[in-house]
Amino acid sequence: MAAATTDHPTNTTYRTTHAKLAAWVDEVSELTQPDSIYWCDGTDEEWNRLTDELVAAGTFVRLDESKKPNSFWCASDPSDVARVEDRTFICSQNAEDAGPTNNWMDPSEMKSVLNDLYSGSMRGRTMYVIPFVMGHLDADKPMFGVEITDSAYVVASMRVMARMGMDVLDKIESTEADFVPCLHSVGAPLEPGEADIAWPCNDTKYIVHFPEERAIWSYGSGYGGNALLGKKCYSLRIASAMAHDEGWLAEHMLILKLTNPEGVVKYVAAAFPSACGKTNLAMITPTIPGWKAETLGDDIAWMRFGKDGRLYAVNPEDGLFGVAPGTGYGTNPNAMKAIEQGNSVFTNVALTDDGDIWWEGMTDEPPAHLTDWKGRDWTPASSEKAAHPNSRFCTPIRQCPIIADEYDDPRGVPIDAILFGGRRKTTIPLVTEARDWTHGTFMGATLSSETTAAATGAVGVVRRDPMAMLPFMGYNAGDYFQHWLNVGKDADSSKLPRIFYVNWFRRDDDGGFLWPGFGENSRVLKWVFERIQGTVDAVETPVGRVPAPGSLDIDGLDVTEDDIAKALAVKPEEWRDELPQITEWFEKFGEKLPSIFWSELDGLRERLG
Ligand code: GDP
Ligand code: PGA
Ligand code: MN
Ligand code: MN
Repeated sequence: MAAATTDHPTNTTYRTTHAKLAAWVDEVSELTQPDSIYWCDGTDEEWNRLTDELVAAGTFVRLDESKKPNSFWCASDPSDVARVEDRTFICSQNAEDAGPTNNWMDPSEMKSVLNDLYSGSMRGRTMYVIPFVMGHLDADKPMFGVEITDSAYVVASMRVMARMGMDVLDKIESTEADFVPCLHSVGAPLEPGEADIAWPCNDTKYIVHFPEERAIWSYGSGYGGNALLGKKCYSLRIASAMAHDEGWLAEHMLILKLTNPEGVVKYVAAAFPSACGKTNLAMITPTIPGWKAETLGDDIAWMRFGKDGRLYAVNPEDGLFGVAPGTGYGTNPNAMKAIEQGNSVFTNVALTDDGDIWWEGMTDEPPAHLTDWKGRDWTPASSEKAAHPNSRFCTPIRQCPIIADEYDDPRGVPIDAILFGGRRKTTIPLVTEARDWTHGTFMGATLSSETTAAATGAVGVVRRDPMAMLPFMGYNAGDYFQHWLNVGKDADSSKLPRIFYVNWFRRDDDGGFLWPGFGENSRVLKWVFERIQGTVDAVETPVGRVPAPGSLDIDGLDVTEDDIAKALAVKPEEWRDELPQITEWFEKFGEKLPSIFWSELDGLRERLG
């Protein structure tokens, strides 16, 4: 079978007037030898044609129109289910600029390895050219990218996740704008007459960034952050390097609008590692009367100072790529309402017998029979989960019923509070307020979390994940810490966001969560809001400020006082165990570690006694 070839006349014969783009497309097609070149226009007609082709190829299964209109189930190769951090590289000219937390290879050496792999890698396939913009097309300086890929799955997903298509290309051409070239191949060329498979990929994988050149080369994986290059690769790794050079911040943060019963608005950005609650908090349904939450972003925030001296955040993406398991009407009804409207791609979830999708945590009772993510029969008696723990829904963010009006404002929203958070069974209190920006930066730099299924490798291992950016920093982490400190130094401190550290995941001795989480997290948001207003009290502890007795609103909450006390507790003996870990972490950075962090650590040690 010929792969997803197309006879669309305009788009296969298109010649761009943009010299750099034309040259790059020629260069890549000469190297990779595709059957044809197709320029994506982003139209509905194109979406319909591509998704039909994906259904015909066996990659997509169309869901029942009455249940999930215009939506598709997709199963990846079982080896290609998550980001591959050990195969992700920051290829700066000097190794030191990638720092101790990133994999590095000399850029010219890496290019020669990859050029060999890309050579002929698109044979038998269509090469798609996807013009896209991260953030608004009407931004002062639109942040353009062009992804070249041989995966129609990537094209369909990029259409949901980013603003892409003809109007973007028009603007790149008419303004002769620069763009980030993003090259992607699944690394599975087809011999003449060879049949394609549902999820082509390669055991050899490389996710490579050239930060100085602002270029991305990805090979061998078709999945999520490895392949939808506008997301992690551009908007975090490359953008963080740009932000460092230009004095702004590209962060792994959700953006949320909160309105209190009096109509006062505050904007919150929050950084939690992958699969630690960003999408859920971004779409929270507050459980406390009169409070309103609205969504602006669920994964990435770009923050720049406005003329008024405040830090403004925009969400560069246009879609949700949410963790499916655990998403249900009880936990995240807004996500459920978003996906119900359809226009979505579900990857590695289970398929119901009536053409719908299911995953663990969607409903209390599983259906009696399913097709699991590996395509096998599944019943509640099965020993394995029906959906992969990192299975995902890919849905337009505009379908979120609580999307904020400001979503369409290219200037973004002024951030009042930044939350850092992780997944820790012990030690870290439900909420702690930093004394100031420097202390908050120290909290972010020492953030720790148990690893999750969002990346390949062991799950549940505590690691330092600074600002939830460990896998996403496009340069030396020591320079990144200094950049955060500089942002604070250069700003009017009264206008800076206040910084907090949260942990929804502390456990009791039986292993149960001490805090109910999800909608009840609105109680913590309320405390944060009222700390900014100065209307609630906090008490000093060795690690920062925690809610004073009675200041956290627990009205009507079905949790014992004892559990709340345990969730909020600062236990010096637990924190003393953290100290050697933080020391070891800081020592990695040598001279690059801002010396003020050693002073912060000394202060913490003294206060712990
Ligand atoms: P993201 O990857 O950071 O966007 O995280 P998600 O919001 O998708 O959540 C990842 C997983 O954590 C899902 O299985 C959620 O159900 C679960 N989760 C999210 N928020 C909470 C919470 O407040 N408490 C608990 N216990 N689990 C949560
Ligand atoms: P997440 O995004 O943070 O929603 O898990 C995907 C990822 O980080 O891989
Ligand atoms: Mn993420
Ligand atoms: Mn998410």
